[in-house]
Amino acid sequence: MDLKQTAQLLARASSVDNRRVEQETVLAWHEILEPFDYEQLVAALTLHRRTSTEYLVPAHLAAIVQTAGRTSVPIPPAIDHCDVHEGYILEADGKCHMCTRYPEDRPHFLATGERPAMLSIGELVASTGRTA
Ligand SMILES: [Zn+2]
Repeated sequence: MDLKQTAQLLARASSVDNRRVEQETVLAWHEILEPFDYEQLVAALTLHRRTSTEYLVPAHLAAIVQTAGRTSVPIPPAIDHCDVHEGYILEADGKCHMCTRYPEDRPHFLATGERPAMLSIGELVASTGRTA
């Protein structure tokens, strides 16, 4: 937000609470709210007026904008899937459940390009030497 917008924001604020807005007021508010977006601050001002009878200070607006920023733009969780076992989510150690259980699957995939999950039941049974 630039200085002109800060003055506009304060003009909006004073139209409700009749505060005196001097050059120093604009500078002081600008120093605090400069990193924020004017449109968001105006929305925060309206929200404050609608929900609070407290005398408006810059911290009110900063808090509302910061809270809105956290809730409206959720950071997507970083879920990585195993490149060998389709559909398996990598755990903290960088391996999926199947990698841990079948450590030979990764070298097999790297050598043949064949995903172990693609093996049919028959092949699985054959490879373990068990028969139905
Ligand atoms: Zn895996």
